[in-house]
Amino acid sequence: MRKQIVAGNWKMNTLLKDGMELAKAVEKMEKETRGDAVVIIAPPFTHLSKIRELIGNVKLGAQNCASEPSGAFTGEISPEMLRSTGVEYVIIGHSERRSHFHEGNDLLNRKVKLSLSTGLKPIYCCGEVLEEREAGRLFDVVREQLEVGLKGLSAADMANMVIAYEPVWAIGTGKVATPGQAQEMHGFIRGLVAEMFGQEVAQNLSVLYGGSCKPSNAAELFRQPDVDGGLIGGASLKAEDFIAIVHAI
Ligand code: PEP
Repeated sequence: MRKQIVAGNWKMNTLLKDGMELAKAVEKMEKETRGDAVVIIAPPFTHLSKIRELIGNVKLGAQNCASEPSGAFTGEISPEMLRSTGVEYVIIGHSERRSHFHEGNDLLNRKVKLSLSTGLKPIYCCGEVLEEREAGRLFDVVREQLEVGLKGLSAADMANMVIAYEPVWAIGTGKVATPGQAQEMHGFIRGLVAEMFGQEVAQNLSVLYGGSCKPSNAAELFRQPDVDGGLIGGASLKAEDFIAIVHAI
């Protein structure tokens, strides 16, 4: 059985004190209502080590990492540094990294490989922009993101990977993919992973949906056979909403 996962991407939100309160609230609510889903929060880098001390059931994620292990890369944070603060998961290739910071599939592949080699579990993001969907290129775009981003990985590596399908037109827009649109792409992703790594790897891989997921639409999205949970932006900033999404699993 593949894992069901709900991960909260806080982005560049919360000051340390508010972040600590939010993490405490998520931990408390998660503990009181324990389900089977793996619950992850990904606060800003500056909060990670403090928040590590406040959570136990909830897992710690980071929102990005460097593509190099150490050295003269001012301002960068390496996967090993993240591991040393107790981080278990790292979001790689979020569409905001791809668009604002021009991160391409080759660079992201280096980040994925380096993260895996230090024991982090990457949550690798893929997804098309609206023009690509409208031009009927959505599957080609996602295929390339996965073929290049996951290049050189082994089946054993894939056991530590999570994929998040995040149609860019749905991120932070309030415009959610229909359950049918989500299932169509999730099925495609699982099929592609089966082509690349075999059926067993594909069947064990968790594929999360992200893009304006909230308590009112989560259950229907998560009911789709190839949707194994969610990567949640805006709604992860309120503990009640985030935990309501966890319950939707
Ligand atoms: C995200 O940034 O990963 C995301 C899915 O954002 P939102 O839920 O706000 O659309």
